[in-house]
Amino acid sequence: MTKIGLEIHCQLTKLESKLFCPCKANYREYEPNTNICPICMGLPGTLPRLNQKAIEKATMIAMALNCSIPEKIAFFRKNYFYPDLPKNFQITQLNIYGDTSIGGSGMIMVGDKKIRITRIQLEEDPGRLIYEGSSSKNQITLVDYNRAGTPLVEIVTEPDFENPKQVREFLNILSDLLENLDVSDPGLEGAMRADANVSIEGGNKVEIKNIGSFHDLEKAVHFEITRQESLHSREIPIAQETRHWDDKRKITISSRSKEEELDYRYFLEGDIPWITVGQQIHEKLRLEMPESISSKRERYIKKYGITDQVADVLSSDKFYSDLFDKSLTEKNAKEIANIITTDLMGLVDTKEKRQLSKLESTHLIDIANAIQTGKITRISAKNALYEIVKSGKKLEQVISEMDLGNVSDENELTVIIEQVVQEEPQAVEQAKSNPQTINFLVGKVMQKTKGKADPKLTLDLLKKKIT
Ligand SMILES: [Zn+2]
Repeated sequence: MTKIGLEIHCQLTKLESKLFCPCKANYREYEPNTNICPICMGLPGTLPRLNQKAIEKATMIAMALNCSIPEKIAFFRKNYFYPDLPKNFQITQLNIYGDTSIGGSGMIMVGDKKIRITRIQLEEDPGRLIYEGSSSKNQITLVDYNRAGTPLVEIVTEPDFENPKQVREFLNILSDLLENLDVSDPGLEGAMRADANVSIEGGNKVEIKNIGSFHDLEKAVHFEITRQESLHSREIPIAQETRHWDDKRKITISSRSKEEELDYRYFLEGDIPWITVGQQIHEKLRLEMPESISSKRERYIKKYGITDQVADVLSSDKFYSDLFDKSLTEKNAKEIANIITTDLMGLVDTKEKRQLSKLESTHLIDIANAIQTGKITRISAKNALYEIVKSGKKLEQVISEMDLGNVSDENELTVIIEQVVQEEPQAVEQAKSNPQTINFLVGKVMQKTKGKADPKLTLDLLKKKIT
């Protein structure tokens, strides 16, 4: 049997400042080594000042993953000497005095499979090392400390996964959950990193380090299972070791064991007192926490009659559910859901396109209204939506500029229907006995009017003409 466990590092990208100093948590926008201060550089005489918002956001993650929340939390120093760590120690958490990390044991369902969470801890991210040249022949290594001290949450699972597919499903659920909590933007480079441990047939556990994205995590796990199965089938023992993920070659490679046998000499961080996360903070956070994905889903289905499948799509993506919630009324909910899931998704399918999009919830309300009152057809609505996403113009202006208004003039439509009937004699014959064929003729009228013919009126007129 295959057993896979994960350690996921997630940056709290939505915070303003670093974990222990006022430097920006969003380090990506700065020139190297400009987002730093004496605290995150560990200069003598400085003291860390804990970011309360980081405690709150990390606790929210723990609550969303059904973790136990300890009464008191503590921070520890993990000592190691490495150029990405200016202080020569990392402030992190450890459960040697009982559960003192931000979250204790929890669980999350992945389909029917229960994945247990071992613990969640809050820690600071080290700086970044940038290697110039190929990994075997590094000429220069550059250090950028802009990231040093930014808040990082580590989520550790039990080895409950049995295959890479479950890993991928879990990561999808987790990344939707983090986005919905508004704590992290999983799409940012380096915002999500992971280590995995893999064992097969009760054999030795192999750790895979250095997996830089969720996308690669599934690949790394898959590669490692295949590698171990191949050894196992040839009766070669599987060594208990740490392997690194090579993201260029997409393979795991054994790393020198001496790097992993470090004694970190953990001890309590004396500059940060134990912190009580009492009942009051719990209650406050529970009230502040955004509505969960499952609760949204249920609300969409029960209150607005949205189908299960559409409700799944809308609720799991914060961008769509925010838009949907802002524009829906009991009368237009289904229409809005339809516009988002059939037309809008193709237009804003990347982060960049979403950022550039000029669409507001008021536009969606106007479009749904125009469809429901027969002012424009669904096809015209789609064309209008394309223009609005690009320009942000008001619907009314777009309808007049693009001439999208419905053709609902009976005389005008009758002329077009006459043409279609003459051009499609066979279909007209068939339509007399087979009502389905009439839809084909409606389609022809739509083609001639560039999708602007009032569909109901067209159908009525066609039926009258044929029968
Ligand atoms: Zn700083």
